[in-house]
Amino acid sequence: MESYQFDNLSIILNKEGSREFSKVSYPIRYGRFAEVKTPDYIFQFNLNGEIKHIQGRGQSWPHPAEWLKRTVANDWIYFSVGSSYSSVYGFIGEYYLPCLSYPSNSIIGGNPFDDNAVRSAFTAWQKLLLKIKALTSSFIPQSLRDFLILVTESHPKALRLRSHELHNLIGGRLTVLPPDTRHVDYDVIPVIVADGCLYNCQFCRVKSGQGFAPRTKKNIIGQIKKLKSFYARDLSNYNAIFLGQHDALCAGTELLEFATKNAYEIFEFERSNLRGAKLFLFGSADSLINSQDALFESLNCLPFSAYINIGLESADPATLAVLKKPITVEMVGEAFARMLDINRRYEKIEVTANFLFADDLPRGHLSSFLELTRNRLNRFYSKGTIYLSPLINGGAKDVETKREMLRKFNEVKILSRLPTFIYLIQRL
Ligand code: SF4
Repeated sequence: MESYQFDNLSIILNKEGSREFSKVSYPIRYGRFAEVKTPDYIFQFNLNGEIKHIQGRGQSWPHPAEWLKRTVANDWIYFSVGSSYSSVYGFIGEYYLPCLSYPSNSIIGGNPFDDNAVRSAFTAWQKLLLKIKALTSSFIPQSLRDFLILVTESHPKALRLRSHELHNLIGGRLTVLPPDTRHVDYDVIPVIVADGCLYNCQFCRVKSGQGFAPRTKKNIIGQIKKLKSFYARDLSNYNAIFLGQHDALCAGTELLEFATKNAYEIFEFERSNLRGAKLFLFGSADSLINSQDALFESLNCLPFSAYINIGLESADPATLAVLKKPITVEMVGEAFARMLDINRRYEKIEVTANFLFADDLPRGHLSSFLELTRNRLNRFYSKGTIYLSPLINGGAKDVETKREMLRKFNEVKILSRLPTFIYLIQRL
């Protein structure tokens, strides 16, 4: 760690954060980063000199323990404590609520991006870039100058271009991350193993509209190599991959093994600043039911803990018909049973499931949900998280409807015998 002081700027290079992701009720940072403190803000930069976090220090900042985070796809997210730590944790399984700067499916939290203090943070960052630029032409140590030049080169326009570059090199924008990526603070390296999905359900707002199509091995290895150069110095701050897009499980054992083994080796996860590599992917009812045991045996032997998130949506025939999801209740039941079986048999794999949640779905939706998640289980199981995804059609629901949905969610959560949380859809 190197520390420097220039008037009211204090700069630390190579600051060490936690080496393990953990759920704590105070601001925590991971891996290695650089920090610039002014009287009003703490700015943190990744090892490529790109802004990653901004936290206000003054009276006007909404809460001293809240912060802004920029994703590698250049979205800003405001991490809020909500109205109380316990209610945020009960709803999403985390102590902080990620408030997104783009439309999503959230039924909790306000819009901090409307707050003047939060908006001022972006202006303060741009002013800081000018100050840092001036500093680079003064008499300072070479290692500091090198890093500050990286910071000044990572101005807002350059970061926008970097986001396009990321999507170009993997061949697509990621409209949705699995909810389980919350376990690594949503910091995953995306590698697309297959495009499209099997069903193209009418209700879905994240679908590509394409049929399922696996990528070739050549394409996958090309992505991994280009991603290594893209993440560059900051690669050492990652230990998790997301295999995209909507049904990577359907890509089969050979392609999944190929992608994960190469990613682990080429990204050098063994030398990561973070411990415990993790792998995330989506699957469908069909791909879960049709996958052979050999696939799960292979995933269980990888140097990753794997999270497979399955979109089941509903166990009620009337609801599936309304959603125009072309699967049957019998398939949902079979996929649910397979999920429980895999979670019991494979220590390093957790299969989780999504169901929809709305105020205007047919009456049988919630009762059939509880038939699976309560009546079929003899006790509470800590593995096999269920995510309820709020279905927000035509814009945000009014405050009263949201409150009623949250009340209903709490009722269902208490009855469910699996960990049950709300799914906040995040993109990358
Ligand atoms: S819900 Fe899943 S399977 Fe259906 S369209 Fe969306 S991504 Fe495809």
